[in-house]
Amino acid sequence: MSDTETGKNKPSGIPRVQLPPDVRRDTLAVREGLPPGPWGENSEALYLTSSFVQPDAATAARRFANEEDAFIYSRFTNPTVTMFERRLAALEGAEACIGTASGMSAILLLGMGVLKAGDHVICSRSVFGSTIRLFAGEFGKFGVETTFVSQTDPDEWRRALKPNTKLLFAESPTNPLTEVCDIRALSAIAKDAGAFLAVDNCFCSPALQRPIEYGADMVIHSGTKYLDGQGRVIAGALCATQQMVDEKFMPVLRSAGMSLSAFNAWVVLKGLETLSIRMEAQSARALQLGAWLEMQEQVERVFYPGLKSHPQHELAMAQQTAGGAVVSFIVKGEMQGGAALARSNAFHVIDSTQVCSITANLGDTKTTITHPGSTSHGRMTEEQRQAAGITQGVIRVAVGLDDIEDIKADLLRGLSTLLDQ
Ligand SMILES: *Cc1c(COP(=O)(O)O)cnc(C)c1O
Repeated sequence: MSDTETGKNKPSGIPRVQLPPDVRRDTLAVREGLPPGPWGENSEALYLTSSFVQPDAATAARRFANEEDAFIYSRFTNPTVTMFERRLAALEGAEACIGTASGMSAILLLGMGVLKAGDHVICSRSVFGSTIRLFAGEFGKFGVETTFVSQTDPDEWRRALKPNTKLLFAESPTNPLTEVCDIRALSAIAKDAGAFLAVDNCFCSPALQRPIEYGADMVIHSGTKYLDGQGRVIAGALCATQQMVDEKFMPVLRSAGMSLSAFNAWVVLKGLETLSIRMEAQSARALQLGAWLEMQEQVERVFYPGLKSHPQHELAMAQQTAGGAVVSFIVKGEMQGGAALARSNAFHVIDSTQVCSITANLGDTKTTITHPGSTSHGRMTEEQRQAAGITQGVIRVAVGLDDIEDIKADLLRGLSTLLDQ
């Protein structure tokens, strides 16, 4: 077999940075990984190299045969990527992690690792749009069937089980309406059925929620969002047990190559160091903004898990340490003039901003604003959008580290000048 086809992979014989065994999560966030190199660098080195020189032919042969752990080729082993993987695994409370080129490629790796033709998947209907297309469209082409169910009703998940159900896939909270699923309940359903539960933890990050503690088998990340935290690179990760990583996922990564680049791994690795203080600060600002929006008469409804008005507020507060940084709201107009007026009101509020960045990305220190109905969810039919509650009046704000008073003033520019209908 060639190197790309063989099994076991992560260089687990590679030494770990020396830390007392009981250090806490915030310390792991800035220190977990590999030991420093021969020069004693304090900030992690960026290993921009595609391959690693082997001392002699016999050693190379042992390493390629997986008889000895070492870095070989950056498609599947690179010290900067390993550093990121170990650190994220530590924060999620996972045994192991694989960095991937994007959040979507982490889900691709998940599917390729655990599914085969004839398998069945149950997935929340409210997950990220590209995730729905990946399961329904791409995996569908290879004979994997997916049933989409309610984000919030675990009984629907149970009823959707089939003898060939292999994977349950959830995301919490969801984009843009911040619906929360009961991870513990879904885990129980998966375990009873002998299926895996994977949770996309993009919106909370391990700073606010650790799905493995509630029974998830795998955790997915778009590193592009809060892990980077400053809107610089595309990255992703899949956390799982060491055995799953060694036996199921590394062989796929090695053959299929959805690998995280060392440069992007380095950026996201440094992002992890400030993750918990960013999530705390951004969540606090989001809560303030949500409470303020609820008092605005031009706002029909606010969606934020940290607010008492959120339908799953109690569950969210049991599962998460804060509400997260995404606040969505509906501007009035739908009831007065239907979808067209709601949309023009939403566009008016967005276009009146002078501080917020108009972009569909989230997880940045810069507050971003978007109209999901015509951007991130624009490829859905109007009927699908209505079913998902993403009406034309919905605006999503991903709160960054801007002074929240400036963001309130920015939204008020448009809200206060909406024509009274
Ligand atoms: C952005 C996002 C993804 C996809 O991540 P990319 O890095 O853009 O591939 C997946 N899930 C959620 C919840 C996201 O917000």
